[in-house]
Amino acid sequence: MAVFQELTEVMSLKSVIFDVDGTLADTETQGHLWAFNRVFQLWNLPFRWTPGVYRELLKISGGKERLAYYLTQHPKYRQLTPDEIREIYELKTHLFKDRVWSGAVPLRIGVHSLVVQCYEEGISLGISTTTHYDNVEALLSRHFGSQWTRMFRAIVAGDEVPKKKPDPAVYFRCLDQLGIKSHEALAIEDSQVGLKAALQAGIPTIVTMNTWTYHQRFTGARAILTDLGTSHTPSYGRGPRGWGRYQITVDQLRSWQSL
Ligand SMILES: [Mg+2]
Repeated sequence: MAVFQELTEVMSLKSVIFDVDGTLADTETQGHLWAFNRVFQLWNLPFRWTPGVYRELLKISGGKERLAYYLTQHPKYRQLTPDEIREIYELKTHLFKDRVWSGAVPLRIGVHSLVVQCYEEGISLGISTTTHYDNVEALLSRHFGSQWTRMFRAIVAGDEVPKKKPDPAVYFRCLDQLGIKSHEALAIEDSQVGLKAALQAGIPTIVTMNTWTYHQRFTGARAILTDLGTSHTPSYGRGPRGWGRYQITVDQLRSWQSL
């Protein structure tokens, strides 16, 4: 009886839901920050954002809002009109997608192999993100080819829900589209706001931190790791049973999710 119970619990992982920015890829350093600075250059604006400045600005949700906030903090620069900010943001989005298509934004360590393994083992894949759908499409089709639409069964982007993360709405909608319950899923996130959103939706969550988020608190995460790891380059971090080196496979996720 005990063995049967253990088996059914171990078998209960049905879906893995990924965040995009910072989790699938370091889109901030390689994509968004690069694109913002490129537009500032093209518009002959007298400032550029360093990684340090950008880390602070990431507390502001949304690209247009971020630029507007920066200008209010720096009154010595010419203040841009809302139309100018919109125009800058549109060009920035265009440059970002071009950059993704060029291959300059690689997937993080272990992401490709875990996605493929989930797909092959019938674990459905979902995306829950506050970024724009076009950005998700560019990143996934660049790295998984035209079959990405078959591989990812549910894509819920930020503009589809009224409130962005840490509100759990984006996760609730993803669970709905996947047709599963929260305990049958496992979320992978890179930030505190993302972790909060997933946990509020009742989904066990693994955090793969990065240079933008390593200083944040990840209370409630099932594991906190440097990345997903591969057999050659295992990740390091704290799993449910302690510190160690890990390569995140479907079996590993099953055992952590059923705890
Ligand atoms: Mg993120």
